[in-house]
Amino acid sequence: MYQQLKGRLRQQGVGLVAVSKTKPAADILTLYNMGHRDFGENYVQELAEKAAQLPQDIRWHFIGHLQSNKVKIIAPFVHLIHGVDSEKLIRQIEKQGAKLQRSLSVLLQIHIAQEETKFGLLPSEASAVLAAAAQLPHVAVKGFMGMASFTSDKAKIFSEFMMVKNLYDEQKVTYPYLDTLSIGMSSDYEEATRAGSTLVRIGSALFGGRN
Ligand SMILES: *Cc1c(COP(=O)(O)O)cnc(C)c1O
Repeated sequence: MYQQLKGRLRQQGVGLVAVSKTKPAADILTLYNMGHRDFGENYVQELAEKAAQLPQDIRWHFIGHLQSNKVKIIAPFVHLIHGVDSEKLIRQIEKQGAKLQRSLSVLLQIHIAQEETKFGLLPSEASAVLAAAAQLPHVAVKGFMGMASFTSDKAKIFSEFMMVKNLYDEQKVTYPYLDTLSIGMSSDYEEATRAGSTLVRIGSALFGGRN
């Protein structure tokens, strides 16, 4: 499954984050030994434990909902924080980056699903947050992340992804350094790549279902 998926995504110029949450280190090493380096985790404690025992050249993506008081745990080694959804969190990331003298790369999570439970900034809030973040020397906003509604309605999923793709194209005019659009999971990555995803986050299709 990995080689096939990786090959198809590569043809489209789309990157792959292998989402390894709840899966053992051995599963990560299997993909690592096939040359894969980008892995995603949702929980701070689980990420910190895995990072400590796995090879140093893994690029760890934090894809869960990050609490401000946990930023310092992952700041020394995280490669990209996907789910940033408030200025308060950005300021905490700046503070920890300054302490470490390290620039931390982040994606702003945009609320695109018509579900109340999902986190994220409204599309209309994004430009103010981008402007604020541009003033911070230790935060590098690379783009946006989004999650579509949990539905089998593919047209709906596609149109939600297009909302964040359009926002991305719009904001790239002002912030040309934006280069990452993180949309697409196991069940909807085809809609996401059609909508212009540059990075998909795939767990169960690679590692099997989670309990
Ligand atoms: C778990 C998770 C994924 C991967 O989900 P799958 O359906 O297993 O591919 C992607 N993104 C986020 C934010 C997740 O929490």
